[in-house]
Amino acid sequence: MTTGRGESDTPLCATCGVEAAEPLPEVCPVCEDERQFVPTGGQEWTTVRALSASGRSLAIAEVEPGLHALRTEPRTGIGQTCYLATAPGAVTTASGTGAGASEADSGDSRADATSRRGGLLFDVPPFIDDAAVEAVAARGGVAAIVASHPHMYGLQLEWSRAFDDAPVFVSRIDADWVQRWGPAIRLYDGEAEPVPGIRVRQVGGHFPGSSVGLWRSPVDGGLVLLGSDSISPVARQGWVTFMRSFPNYLPLSARAVRMIASRVADLDVERIQGSFGQRTGSDGARAIAESAERYAEWVSGAYDDRI
Ligand SMILES: [Zn+2]
Ligand SMILES: [Zn+2]
Repeated sequence: MTTGRGESDTPLCATCGVEAAEPLPEVCPVCEDERQFVPTGGQEWTTVRALSASGRSLAIAEVEPGLHALRTEPRTGIGQTCYLATAPGAVTTASGTGAGASEADSGDSRADATSRRGGLLFDVPPFIDDAAVEAVAARGGVAAIVASHPHMYGLQLEWSRAFDDAPVFVSRIDADWVQRWGPAIRLYDGEAEPVPGIRVRQVGGHFPGSSVGLWRSPVDGGLVLLGSDSISPVARQGWVTFMRSFPNYLPLSARAVRMIASRVADLDVERIQGSFGQRTGSDGARAIAESAERYAEWVSGAYDDRI
């Protein structure tokens, strides 16, 4: 870990908070997409240094023992809550059968050759500075990084660099959305275990490669699903939703939501954390199954007698 983390000139989109590379496009592709938006005033770019100098900070709160929520304050970019999930053991290595991992296979989810300490950073803040890195290091640090989908890439390579080039796992099917590439990026398909005992699984829907995080509480053994924009707790306890676009309120089809639910149907999900800090406190598996069926029925017209 080195200092000066907030001093890079790395550009990022001010609207979605995704890091970019020079030469910058005229408009951020992530925001131009129908799931996001370009502000009425037009595209705005900022830099890591400008945000760091703006008085922002990373607020960290313990959600439950071993799981921390990370939020940039004041709200920046999409305003997502990111999570630091602590590894079950103190010393960790990335998963897989990666003996002989080399440049040639850096594009898959096989093991990182280095033994790493730390947990999984799931979804990535659009902000970084020395204080933020120190605060995360004090809570065990980062062994691997996974953004659930392109809206949550944030400053993924900046955070990787701050933790000894921790591997950044990206869903291969969504890889065209990556705006800034680096050797830390590992492409994966389906499911990966970036940190032993902590898995990510692609469920699709919001993006084809949208993934959820799967972390088991060391206290009660409950499986916590980090749903991000794929499986999202809503105001009513025990309900979740599924959307193609949250800011633009674009729904998904009945087939899509049933697909998402089916891809986690084998899991004994107890709790669900959302991308804005919202939470399902218990019986998560039932919340997903019932909510998916309700949603599918609504978008299929089953209740059109009520409209
Ligand atoms: Zn953007
Ligand atoms: Zn999203």
